[in-house]
Amino acid sequence: MTTGEAPESVEAFRARARAWLAETMPRLGTMSHVARYADEDGSWRRARELQQKLYAGGFAGIRFPKAYGGLGLGPAHQLAFNEESAGYELPILLNIPTFSVCCATLLDWGTEEQKREHIGAAIRGEEVLAQFLSEPSGGSDLAGLITRAERHGDEWVINGAKTWSTSAYGADYALCLARTDPSRPKHDGLTMFLMPTNAPGLTMNRIRMVDGSTEFCEEFFDDVRLPADAVVGEVNGGWKVVTRQLHHERSAMGGGSPYTSGEGMPRSKSAMEAIEVARAAGRTDDPEVRTLVGEALALALVHEQLVARVSEGLANGHLEGPAITMPRLFHAETSQAENDLGLRIAGALATVGSGPDPFARQVGTSFLNRQVISLGGGSTEMARNVISERLLGMPREHAPDRGVPFHRITRG
Ligand SMILES: Cc1cc2nc3c(=O)[nH]c(=O)nc-3n(C[C@H](O)[C@H](O)[C@H](O)COP(=O)(O)OP(=O)(O)OC[C@H]3O[C@@H](n4cnc5c(N)ncnc54)[C@H](O)[C@@H]3O)c2cc1C
Repeated sequence: MTTGEAPESVEAFRARARAWLAETMPRLGTMSHVARYADEDGSWRRARELQQKLYAGGFAGIRFPKAYGGLGLGPAHQLAFNEESAGYELPILLNIPTFSVCCATLLDWGTEEQKREHIGAAIRGEEVLAQFLSEPSGGSDLAGLITRAERHGDEWVINGAKTWSTSAYGADYALCLARTDPSRPKHDGLTMFLMPTNAPGLTMNRIRMVDGSTEFCEEFFDDVRLPADAVVGEVNGGWKVVTRQLHHERSAMGGGSPYTSGEGMPRSKSAMEAIEVARAAGRTDDPEVRTLVGEALALALVHEQLVARVSEGLANGHLEGPAITMPRLFHAETSQAENDLGLRIAGALATVGSGPDPFARQVGTSFLNRQVISLGGGSTEMARNVISERLLGMPREHAPDRGVPFHRITRG
C-alpha cells in the first residue's frame, strides 16, 4: 500500500494489482455471465465476499476519497485496474446502483456522518444500497410521486409504495424520495431519506420478470418510522438530491461513471461475446456473421470514444451536466443492436429454455430483456427530452402542473 502523501504511481499500482489479482481472485470462465444470474441470492453474498477481498487487498473504492474509506486515486489508476482485472471474478453487481449511483449521491449530498458510515461500509463490502424512486403510478414523472413523509416529533413517518427497485432484496439501505410538503409545487416539496430495507412497516416483494429473474422488487410502506438524521440533503430539497442521483445513474448507464470498477473493456466484451455465440453456432466462417461481429466491435468502439469524449468535456467544463445523457442514450441503442445481432448469429440455438448450447441460450434470454436498457435509469424518451431541451435549446415540453401546489394538481 501507498504510504505518506504521494499517491502510488500508476505503473506501481498496475503491477501490484496484476500480482494480487493473479494470487487472490478467481478467474472467470467463458460462461461466467450465465452463471452470475443462476442463483440471485448467492450472487449477492458472493459480491459482498469479493468486495471484502478487494478491500483487504487495498483495491476497493479506487476513486472515492480517502476520508470515506476509498483510495483517493484518479482515472488512470482506475483504468489500469479495469484492464488488469479483465478475466477475473469481481463484485460488479455492486457497481450499479451501490457505488456509481447511491454512494456518488451521498458524496454530493450526504452529511459527514452519512458519508463516513455508508460509503465506508459499502467499500468494505459490508453494505449494499438500492434506490426507492419509481412508484406504481409512474417513474418518468418522478416529481409527481405520491409517497408521503410526515414529521411526527423527532421522527418521519413514511406511507406509500415504490416499485422496480433493482436488487433491493440484497440491499441494506435505500435512497427513498418522498413528498414532505404537498402545499408546494411538485418539485419543491420532496425530501430524500436513507431508509433501512429491514425497517418495521416495510414490506418487500420480488417481481418475476419474463426472463425468469426476480431482481426487481416492490415495497409498501405502512408507517415506516425514520429518525431525523435519515434525511439526505435538506428537507423539501429532495429534487436537488435526486437530480444529482439521476445524473450519476445516467452516467453509470452510459458507461461513464468514475465509481464503477473492474468491468474490463466494453470493446472486447461485446465483440468477444458475439464471437463466442458464432462459435457455438458453428458460423465463424460465415461472411454475414463476420460482418455482424465487426458491427459489434465498431459499435463498442464508438461507444467507448463517446464516453471518453463526454467525460473529458464534463471534466474540463466544455460540456454541461446534461451531456451525460448522450452516452446513456447511445448505450441503450448499442445494447439493443448487440442483442439483435447476437440473436441473428445464434439463430434457432437461442431458443429460450430448450436450446442445446447454454451460451447461445443466454442470447435468447438477454433478448427477452432487450427493452430494460431503454427504461432503467430513466427512459430513452426522457433522455431525448433532456438532450433536446437542455443541450439543443429546443422549447420545453408543456407542463400544466408547473408551479402549481401539488395538492391542487388533478391526478389519475
Ligand atoms: C433495468 C431497470 C432498472 C430499474 N431500477 C430502478 C431502481 O433501482 N429504482 C427505481 O426507483 N426505479 C427503477 N427502475 C424504474 C425506471 O426508473 C422506470 O421504469 C422509468 O423511469 C420509467 O418509468 P415507468 O416504467 O413508470 O414508465 P412511465 O413513466 O409510465 O412511462 C411509460 C412510457 O411513456 C414514456 N413517457 C413518459 N413520459 C414521457 C414524456 N414526458 N415524454 C416522452 N415520453 C414519455 C416513457 O418514456 C415510457 O416509454 C428501473 C427500470 C429498469 C428497466
